[in-house]
Amino acid sequence: MYIIFLGAPGAGKGTQAGELARELGLEHIATGDLFRQALERGTDLGLKAKSYMEKGVLVPSQITIGMVLERLSAPDCTKGAILDGFPRNLEQAEALDKALREQGKAIDNVVYIKVSEEELLKRLSGRWICRRCQAPCHATDSPPRVWGKCDKCGGELYQRPDDNEVSVKKRLEVYLAETAPLIDYYTQGSKLIEIAGEGGVAEVAKRIKAALPGER
Ligand code: AMP
Repeated sequence: MYIIFLGAPGAGKGTQAGELARELGLEHIATGDLFRQALERGTDLGLKAKSYMEKGVLVPSQITIGMVLERLSAPDCTKGAILDGFPRNLEQAEALDKALREQGKAIDNVVYIKVSEEELLKRLSGRWICRRCQAPCHATDSPPRVWGKCDKCGGELYQRPDDNEVSVKKRLEVYLAETAPLIDYYTQGSKLIEIAGEGGVAEVAKRIKAALPGER
């Protein structure tokens, strides 16, 4: 089973994709997390991605597609995966369709989480991420029990460098220009499920489960 999570930065894709992956026993593949981990480890991939991420623009598709297809071919993904933050443009969507088709597979569903721009800006400016497990929390909406420490694993919380005002504005522009057209692409393929993303994490998770075929 292959499920894609689509939505603007701050829509809650990571949180919801992670929850659903745990529930379905599938791998959660988040391209932003893969790039950040590569950067922390100082690998070639991380260094290649760094300047694009800092500017809030997309890492070139050849790099991203190669990374995702390699990850998808790992043994822990034989049952499928939940993709979060990929595809982010038409070139990536077509490459993913082609690669799956060649293996007699296909995307099952695309969960599009829709959130107003005002709410996205509020979420991103207060967002803190765990350096170890990548779980997010929010300074005022969902503060950690102990300040600076992740509730889930005790790891150190930090603010992403690209969650600053300038990068956020750029990331939203890039989302509208390059990623939003995928809403049409997947609607045409009858794969898209639109979910209202405002409200608490549990509430949104419930909406997603109710909307996914066979998941009620
Ligand atoms: P995210 O954590 O999903 O917000 O991604 C952080 C940054 O990683 C983005 O602003 C891009 O620079 C890069 N990135 C993540 N996913 C992709 C992708 N599918 N294609 C190109 N760049 C990506």
